[in-house]
Amino acid sequence: MSSYGFHFDNTYARELEGFFAPWQAATVPSPHILLFNHALATQLGLNGAALDSDAGAAIFSGNEIPDGVQPLAQAYAGHQFGHLSPQLGDGRALLLGELLDPDGRRWDIQLKGSGRTPFSRGGDGKAAIGPVLREYLMGEAMTALGIPTTRALAAVSTGEIIHRDTPLPGAILTRIAASHIRVGTFQFFAIRNDQEKVRQLADYTIARHYPAVQTVTNPYLALFNAVADQQAVLLARWMLAGFIHGVMNTDNMSIAGETIDYGPCAFMDRYDPATVFSSIDSQGRYAYGNQPLIAQWNLTRFAETLVELIDPDSEVAIRQLTEAINHFPKVYADYWLQGMRAKLGLHTEEEQDQELAQDFLTTLEGQSVDYTRAFRSLSAVVLGNPAALRSQFDDAETVDAWLQRWQDRLAREPVQAEERALHMDRVNPIYIPRNHKVEEALNAATQNRDLGLLRQLLEVLAEPFTERPGLESYAQPAPESFGVYKTFC
Ligand code: AMP
Ligand code: MG
Ligand code: MG
Repeated sequence: MSSYGFHFDNTYARELEGFFAPWQAATVPSPHILLFNHALATQLGLNGAALDSDAGAAIFSGNEIPDGVQPLAQAYAGHQFGHLSPQLGDGRALLLGELLDPDGRRWDIQLKGSGRTPFSRGGDGKAAIGPVLREYLMGEAMTALGIPTTRALAAVSTGEIIHRDTPLPGAILTRIAASHIRVGTFQFFAIRNDQEKVRQLADYTIARHYPAVQTVTNPYLALFNAVADQQAVLLARWMLAGFIHGVMNTDNMSIAGETIDYGPCAFMDRYDPATVFSSIDSQGRYAYGNQPLIAQWNLTRFAETLVELIDPDSEVAIRQLTEAINHFPKVYADYWLQGMRAKLGLHTEEEQDQELAQDFLTTLEGQSVDYTRAFRSLSAVVLGNPAALRSQFDDAETVDAWLQRWQDRLAREPVQAEERALHMDRVNPIYIPRNHKVEEALNAATQNRDLGLLRQLLEVLAEPFTERPGLESYAQPAPESFGVYKTFC
């Protein structure tokens, strides 16, 4: 225990020899705190006042290594856009270790952008201020929306200029995660046919994330099912919120079920399943509507790493895993429908609800209707104001038949309109990280070193469900002049 409140442990370093390279952060010239997450610090039992300082900047830049820390770069592989890269690993990140919070929960603490490692390949190991602040912002927005995610504890500027297409200010993100074990971590050892290591990793993962499966007959099959279930929950939350991850490579899929590795991610504006923002996703592999299918594809890659652990007779193992993989769409669809019922204000379950929800989405398609705004407007319809929704359509009559069906469905439930509207406003956000607002805030931070807009955006997004006066512009889609949005890693 230090005066900063750090309570470090290092089970990954202690128990998983061969899964990482011990490494040190590069020294940076003049670290300064850009953003410090006091709310998260409090949850972790840290002394935020002491850490939001030059001394904290030294730690969160890697210049100062606190006692008890054994920094390391984790090894992993991964399928990137469908192609296997046998050796990825932390090329610009270092795991400092694990923090134990006041409730005894264990969290990875990682620096991202801390310099080259043995896994850097051609990269410089650094991060630019824009992507660092984007990850900070997205993690906070997702947290407030109730979506499992890694979170930033701090963002520091390094005083270095780094070179991308243009020279940019360098920065480092301090990231807190349930862990950084990825599908790609399992793949790293499985593709080298090191079964002992896969077993070691599976046992470590079970003990750390899924202890309930320790006592069942086939814990490795149960591990697969538990991971698949967490992914189904996560994907349902993404889809309900209109979130597009953008790079669902297997190295970017957390075994603990958190959203991880925010790169070219963005929220969908107008509803269209084919929506892609990432400049590198030219085929639309990671389009909004493909995400559940890609999660299943990634889980299949995970399953492949577990075959030999599950049964010495690989035919038996493959049959069991195939059955589990084939079950995923149903598990996902159930979570999704549960969330959709809440978004539509339904308190009971009826056979036709899936169709009702799907038909609303189909109605939105091709009408340039903003996804988030359309759902938010449904509570006004419940309160007798259908114009709030109808006015968003190019042709309002296309939604009328659906509105009638929905209202007939609502009439079969004994729920007061006010109460129903209140519940709906708690699950249909009014404020999301709108692309033009994110860009505007990141541009000001990058070009003028002005964090004002970003701080404001963070404040708005901290309460995404509560409408507040003066924030109208945060609830509006981008103006036409914003054009077609493209994101970069
Ligand atoms: P990502 O696209 O951020 O998920 O990263 C994919 C892989 O590229 C990981 O192994 C990263 O560590 C590595 N990588 C990304 N950017 C850099 C960089 N600037 N320097 C070194 N490695 C990097
Ligand atoms: Mg990654
Ligand atoms: Mg990236």
